[in-house]
Amino acid sequence: MLIRTRFAPSPTGYLHVGGLRTALYQYLFAKNQGGKFLLRIEDTDRERFVADGTENILKSLYWAGIVPDEGVCLDDNGKVSQSGEFGPYVQSERLTIYKKYSDELIQKGSAYHCFCSAERLEKLRETQQKNKQPTGYDQFCLKNVNSEAALQRVVAGERHVVRLKMPKEGQTVFNDLIRGEIKFKNILVDDQVLIKSDGFPTYHLAVVVDDHLMQITHVIRGDEWISSTPKHIQLYKCFGWKAPEFAHLPLLLNADKSKLSKRQGDVAVSEYQKNGYLPEALINFVAFLGWNPGDEREIFSLQELIKEFNISKVNKTGAIFNVDKLNWFNKEYIKKLSVSELAEKSLSWFGDGVDLKKLERMISLERERVTTLAELPGALAFAFKLPDYTADQLVWRKGSVEEVRKILPELHKFLSAVDEKKWNKAELEKLVGEWVVKNGFSNGSVLWPLRVALSGQANSPGPFEIAEALGRLESMNRIETAIRKL
Ligand code: GLU
Repeated sequence: MLIRTRFAPSPTGYLHVGGLRTALYQYLFAKNQGGKFLLRIEDTDRERFVADGTENILKSLYWAGIVPDEGVCLDDNGKVSQSGEFGPYVQSERLTIYKKYSDELIQKGSAYHCFCSAERLEKLRETQQKNKQPTGYDQFCLKNVNSEAALQRVVAGERHVVRLKMPKEGQTVFNDLIRGEIKFKNILVDDQVLIKSDGFPTYHLAVVVDDHLMQITHVIRGDEWISSTPKHIQLYKCFGWKAPEFAHLPLLLNADKSKLSKRQGDVAVSEYQKNGYLPEALINFVAFLGWNPGDEREIFSLQELIKEFNISKVNKTGAIFNVDKLNWFNKEYIKKLSVSELAEKSLSWFGDGVDLKKLERMISLERERVTTLAELPGALAFAFKLPDYTADQLVWRKGSVEEVRKILPELHKFLSAVDEKKWNKAELEKLVGEWVVKNGFSNGSVLWPLRVALSGQANSPGPFEIAEALGRLESMNRIETAIRKL
């Protein structure tokens, strides 16, 4: 059997980390078994529709490396397009299909028209709540309006919806690939609206019709859809279709076990991208939100995840979103990049006018210290432009201004004689070290003012690293500036 999974986001906003995890698991599950991963846009909720939602979702997925085999995708120019034989893959372009299947259900007696007003439904709900009964539709129109009368009212243009006729006895049982056997008492499952009064299908009808027509074998989705699954299974039964397998992923939680909030990390993927997280780090982090390989390993590329992923290892309990862990992954992935890769990837955070070659020279000064690419311009600002500082900053805590006034010019003289070819960290460290010993200075009394002269900062990388990154000319200029301040 060819495995087919799908990511079916509703463009009611941007792609968040929870959605990224769902898409990633669907992708890994399919790819691990040589299957196909497709993307469908579920835009039947017109009230919550966000115009650039689809584009954001797609761009975020592509950035993360999760590229659909079929369905809604980005073309070579980065524009939203569609490919594949089961399309269109955007639900608002499939309305006639849903209408046809809804008519079929009505004909079979598996669904019915409902003309109840919003006021009546509201009252019904209030009464049920007051009487401590389960809330849900009371099948008034099913019991009181026969199908011929209903049809006449529809033809006359009366406002209506179509509802699923849910059996009210027995139970619906299914085997969830993560949670095992799940049972629902049918009496507690509402007669779900399938077609809304605006003619659009609800999620429930559209998802079942599309998953069937698009030959989806495994529906992997968030926990919040578990209670909808009996309705979907009923729909598969009514149509006489084989239901796919279901797997419901654990919730994402804050450290205090509350539902993941925006403040604590439920942020759009594009925001992480903007804030300088590497896609490899975010994917690795997100993969571990509910899954682990069962041993100590933590660093996994997308390819390695594809190889290792097994849905039976996904946890049933909620997964804690720990931003410190994400930061740890990001630092690890930054360290793995070569200097030129890192410079290229971080160039856009530096704005116009920063030269890639110069950035390459500077970047190793801070690569071990930063958590995100976005921190690099701030961390490296001193290397591009000498900050303003005062003469007293040049004085080591155990030294004096007089001492610096004496040492710095001598050091300048000594360094003026150092050949350009020897201007690198190792040589300078050796030469200056010997010079310090020969002159009977302490290390601190030389290295502190040298470092502040080169960086203009109280805290910075070591002086020889900076000297190498700045180059001979700029380093000498900065030492001269320091001397002038004294
Ligand atoms: N459109 C639904 C959502 O936004 C898809 C749920 C599913 O995967 O069935 O989450």
